[in-house]
Amino acid sequence: MKLFRFSMSLRSSRTCCFETLKSIPVVFILGIVAWSYYAYVIQMCFLTIDSVPKKVIYLLIYHPLLFLFLWSYYRTMFKPLAGPPSEFYVGEAEGERIATAQTLDERRSTLIRLCRRSNLPVLTRHFDGSLRYCFSCQCIKPDRAHHCSVCGKCVLRYDHHCPWTNSCISYGNYKFFVLFLGWALIFCSYVAATSLEYFILFWQDMNNSTTPGGRFHLLFLFFASVMFAISVSSLFFYHLYLTGKNRTTLESFRAPMFADGPQKEGFNLGWKQNFQEIFGKDLLRAFIPISTTRGDGVHYQINSTLLGGLQQQQQQFNNVSTDILLPVDTTMNSMTNDRNYLLNENSNNR
Ligand SMILES: [Zn+2]
Ligand SMILES: [Zn+2]
Repeated sequence: MKLFRFSMSLRSSRTCCFETLKSIPVVFILGIVAWSYYAYVIQMCFLTIDSVPKKVIYLLIYHPLLFLFLWSYYRTMFKPLAGPPSEFYVGEAEGERIATAQTLDERRSTLIRLCRRSNLPVLTRHFDGSLRYCFSCQCIKPDRAHHCSVCGKCVLRYDHHCPWTNSCISYGNYKFFVLFLGWALIFCSYVAATSLEYFILFWQDMNNSTTPGGRFHLLFLFFASVMFAISVSSLFFYHLYLTGKNRTTLESFRAPMFADGPQKEGFNLGWKQNFQEIFGKDLLRAFIPISTTRGDGVHYQINSTLLGGLQQQQQQFNNVSTDILLPVDTTMNSMTNDRNYLLNENSNNR
């Protein structure tokens, strides 16, 4: 009993240490932001700039940019993770049956039976052709969902786990993450552009009246803002590219697998529709961190070429081989009827 208690307390202290470690990058970013606020507002605007109109204009632009950046960061971190709906979980008994299946065919047919029983809208497959299944969560994975080993659960439209936000970047917060990168880039570029003049001034004139401490803050403010702008820009443009292609980071490295093989362009509906899927149709609302991502994270429209191929394959194999047959009524249904939430305007703001 004592041994059990000891191992439990060891495990909880390990979890506590892990949680503390995970929050270090976030604390680091917030610390940099707090210091840069002091350097920009107090040291630069109040103590260095003489012209009052210039001070006012700089501060009037600075604060909305800072607000949008922090708001996007906050929404990325704290948007609750969206996991598979309850019908995707198979339960203890079926989970046991899948885990102890003797052959791949046995496991495959069990998964197809469960998928059909609940009429799950699943189009993607494991590389061995079976339905994708998570042994840890005991659930059939919805299209584009993956298990995050850091969060310990399956997450819808999993992109990656980001240590800088200490959260999974996935269906619910992907828009916020891209906005966070975008507003961070604009914010850092603005700080760099407006502090450049004073950076050059203090760099050239070492005998000015500013205190050495103040000079250090301004010099470092410029360096830090340029450095962050450069590092964030590559990530931001990469995610714009992925959004335009309708790919997650994971899918860009490993093409999603469908019944007829891997299809890198499987979810690509054209750049305009791809962007609307993440940012919505309203241009103004697209730039602020409020939920406008379309769909429900479970149903995804696939491109017409792939859909045609799958329909053809389904007709060809219908009633011949249940192993090859798409487990979907859902294939066609999710594209054509009201279960296709992607095409349903009313499902956008959940
Ligand atoms: Zn899982
Ligand atoms: Zn995660």
